[in-house]
Amino acid sequence: MKRLISEVYLNLIAGVIALGILALSAHTLWTDRLNTWQEAETSSRNVLTAIARDLGSDLELLDLSLKGVMEGQRHVEFPHLLPDLQHHVLFDRAASASFVESLVLVDKAGNLIADGGPVIAPRPLNMADSDAFKVHREQSYSGLYVSRPFRSRIRPGDLVIALSRGLYDSSGHFAGVVMGTVPLSNIDKLFSDLSLGHKGAINLFRHDGILLTRHPYDERQVDQSLAGSPHVQRLLQGKAGTFDSLSPIDGVRRIISFERLDRYPLVLTVAVSVDEVLAAWKRKALVLGLVTGVLCSAVLGLTVLFQRELRRRTHAEAKLRRIARTDDLTGLPNRRGFRETFEREWRQAIRSGSSLALLYIDVDYFKSFNDRYGHGRGDEVLGAIARTLGANIRRPRDMAARHGGEEFAVLLPETDLSGAKLIAENIRQAVMAIGLVHEGSPYQVMTVSIGVASARPSCGSVGVALLEAADAALYQAKAAGRNGIRVADASDFSSQVQTPPNAATRNGNLLKQ
Ligand code: GH3
Ligand code: MG
Ligand code: MG
Repeated sequence: MKRLISEVYLNLIAGVIALGILALSAHTLWTDRLNTWQEAETSSRNVLTAIARDLGSDLELLDLSLKGVMEGQRHVEFPHLLPDLQHHVLFDRAASASFVESLVLVDKAGNLIADGGPVIAPRPLNMADSDAFKVHREQSYSGLYVSRPFRSRIRPGDLVIALSRGLYDSSGHFAGVVMGTVPLSNIDKLFSDLSLGHKGAINLFRHDGILLTRHPYDERQVDQSLAGSPHVQRLLQGKAGTFDSLSPIDGVRRIISFERLDRYPLVLTVAVSVDEVLAAWKRKALVLGLVTGVLCSAVLGLTVLFQRELRRRTHAEAKLRRIARTDDLTGLPNRRGFRETFEREWRQAIRSGSSLALLYIDVDYFKSFNDRYGHGRGDEVLGAIARTLGANIRRPRDMAARHGGEEFAVLLPETDLSGAKLIAENIRQAVMAIGLVHEGSPYQVMTVSIGVASARPSCGSVGVALLEAADAALYQAKAAGRNGIRVADASDFSSQVQTPPNAATRNGNLLKQ
C-alpha cells in the first residue's frame, strides 16, 4: 500500500516534470512564432510604406505634368503660338522623369496633336480606340483615369499603363485627352532591390480589382481581373491593413500588407511567404521539439528505472522481513513473528470485544531424546510436531509458531477457554499418535505438555499477562507429570490483564475452565 502510494507520487512528480518541460517549450515556441510573425508583418508594412511613397510621388509628378498640359492648351493665346512655343508652353513643366514613357495631347478625334517627346512634331498616331480616350469621351469623366495595361504604341512590345485627364471646352463638350504612359517595367524598377524572399510579391491593383502589375514581373499575370477573389475584395474595401491568406494568383500562403494610395484609384500590396517567414522558426521548433522529446523520455525512462529499483528493493525488504519472522527448521513463524501477530490480535480482540486464547506447547523429555537419538533426529521430531500443530488449527487467523527451542505457541483468536482446551487436547493426542518412539520417556513415545489461557481483553489492557498465564499453566502441566494440559487460573493473572485493576472482576475478562 505504502509502495503503491509512493509509486503514485513518483508517477505524479515525473508527469508534472514532463508536462512542465512540454509546457515550457510549447510556450517558448508559441511566443517565438508570434514574435516572428509580428516582425514579418512590421517589415512588410515598412516596405509597403516606402514603395507607396515612391510610387505616389512619381505619379504625382506625372499628374502635375498632365495638369500643366491642360492649363497650357486652355490659354487663350495658345492656338496662335508657333509650334515650338506651343510645345514649350505645354511641356515645359512636364516631368522629365525617366519614369514616364510619353506625354501626349490628343484631340477629340483621337489624333495626337502634341507630343512631349524630343521631337516637336507629334507622331501620326490615333488613340481613339484606347480605353483612356473612350472613358473621357463617352462618360465625360473629368478626373484622373488609370487605364488597364496595354501595348505601347511608341515602343511596341512594352506593356504600359496610362494616366489621363479629359479636356472639356467652356460649354462642357469633350475636346480631347491629355495622357501620360508609364511602362510596367519602370514601375517594376521601384520594386526591385527589395528583399522579400523567393516567394515574396508586390502587387499593384486598380480599385476595380484589375492587377496592373506584379513583382516579380510576369507578363502573363498582369491585366487580369481578380475582383471575384475574396482575398482581393478584402484589399479593395479597406484603407490599409495586414492579413494572411492564400494568393489567388499562385496559391502561396502569404502575410499581406496593403494600402490604398492617396488620391489614386490604386491599391498596393506587399506580401511575404508564410513558409519563408516561419522557415527559421520551424527549424528551431524541430530542434526544441527533439530536445523536449529527449528530456521527457529521459524523465519518464528514469522514473521507470527508479520504480523498478523501488519495487526490487521493496520485494527484497519484504523477503527479508519474512525471513526474519520465519523459523528455518519448521517453516513456522518464529518468536518475533509470533509476538507481532500476538500484539495485533490482542488489539483486535480489544476492538471487537472477543476473547483471545493462547497455547504454550513444550516437548517432553526432549533433552534426553537428543542425547539418545542425536540432534538431527531431534530436529526431525520438531518438524513433525510443527506439522501436527498446523494440522490441528483450522481458522484462517489461527497461528502456530516456534516460540524457541522445543517450545511452540498456538494463537487462537475469537476462541474461549473451552474451545482452546479442546484444541490443546487434540494436539496433545495427535503428537502422541505420531508414535515417535522415545525410550527415555515414561510414555515411550514423544509427548507434549500444554498450558492454556484465554482472555477477553478490554481497552487499555496489556497482553503480557496472558503470555505469563499460559506459561504458568505450562509449568503446572509439566509439574503434573507431563503429557497433559493445564488451564490458567484466573486468579493468576486477571488483575494484570487490565490496567484499571478494579475493573478486572467486573469485566470478567479471563475465562476459566
Ligand atoms: P522437559 O520435559 O522438562 O521439557 O524437559 P526437556 O528436556 O524437554 O527440557 P529442557 O529445557 O531441559 O531441554 C530442552 C532441549 O531442547 C535442550 C536442547 O538441546 C533441545 N533443543 C532446543 N532447540 C533444539 C533444536 O532446534 N533442535 C534439537 N534437536 N534440539 C533442540
Ligand atoms: Mg523447554
Ligand atoms: Mg521440554
